Amino acid sequence: MIAQKIKQAIRDIPDFPKPGVVFKDITPILKDAELCSVITDAFVEQLKGKHIDAVAGVESRGFLFGLTLANKLGVPFVPVRKAGKLPFAVKQKVYDLEYGTATIELHTDAFEPGARILIHDDLLATGGTVSAASELIQEMGGKVAGFTFVVGLGFLNGRERIASVSDNIIVLAE
Ligand code: 5GP
Repeated sequence: MIAQKIKQAIRDIPDFPKPGVVFKDITPILKDAELCSVITDAFVEQLKGKHIDAVAGVESRGFLFGLTLANKLGVPFVPVRKAGKLPFAVKQKVYDLEYGTATIELHTDAFEPGARILIHDDLLATGGTVSAASELIQEMGGKVAGFTFVVGLGFLNGRERIASVSDNIIVLAE
């Protein structure tokens, strides 16, 4: 089972990036070329029949499978980046974190109005990041075609947070 393979490959790093947090390190997955292919193919399989015009990957680990997935689907990849990283004209969204705020940006020409955008990130925790990405996409005239994640931390209820945006939520390992 793919969920099991992913879970076996992921490494738990205690107290990273701060004390009390157990970080799910996905880098061992990236060293396994076969598993990377299996992950991308699993997304493609589960997205069969869905109309997707582009994949938006969230900085920075959302770029990894976001690009391979977009390539396999034969659609453009657009990066959702933290403030100040994108070189062209941008639209931005400020969103709340546990302490303070964060800002994400998309290029103004990332997609055409009405385009159906699949949002991808490596991991779903509280859903705050992809929620902000979905709001930004909608404010720019796009439609959210769904969400894909390699891993989900079920106990943080991220699914519930994004369920009203799209019911097409794919989490390979939860
Ligand atoms: P959320 O916004 O859902 O609370 O957090 C998810 C975002 O934080 C994703 O962009 C993800 O990359 C990052 N993130 C939070 N915790 C972890 C973790 O334990 N491992 C990894 N790989 N990313 C995490």
